[in-house]
Amino acid sequence: MSKLEIKKYGSAVLRKKSEKISKITSEIECLAKDMLETMYLANGVGLAAPQVGASFRMCVIDVTKEKNNPFIMINPEIISVENKVSEEEGCLSFPGVYEKVGRFKKVSAKYTDLNGADKTIAAEGFLAKAIQHEIDHLDAKLFIDYLPDWKRKSVESEIKRKKKTGQW
Ligand code: ZN
Repeated sequence: MSKLEIKKYGSAVLRKKSEKISKITSEIECLAKDMLETMYLANGVGLAAPQVGASFRMCVIDVTKEKNNPFIMINPEIISVENKVSEEEGCLSFPGVYEKVGRFKKVSAKYTDLNGADKTIAAEGFLAKAIQHEIDHLDAKLFIDYLPDWKRKSVESEIKRKKKTGQW
């Protein structure tokens, strides 16, 4: 396994819609394992393939403190949602940025696992939030897109400032 470079906001791949995975090849298996390792090393709870420059519909999630309950989701899709909440959220492509984002409290999703088996998951709370956030990445949507205009602009200008001084 190897650690991959996490693409930060500004990288074009984050704004590109990802391709559906039609076959779980050894490259996809390898990518999934590397993504999991990269996420754990970055102390993240979720990572989507575009965040490591691979424009495929796959994400990895583990919201446990012990880092012992990973989900590898291939072609994930939300199938139902329930109750809205607004909570603080971050993203490995936005180091140091945390903002309140509206999400659904409960979601059901379907996906294919690394063995090619079709699965469904009913999630709530932190896991539900992570699933929504990661699937958004596959559709080229980022958490700052949910912010009001003025707030998003202030986040963007802060990032611009950091870029100038080489901190991004
Ligand atoms: Zn993210």
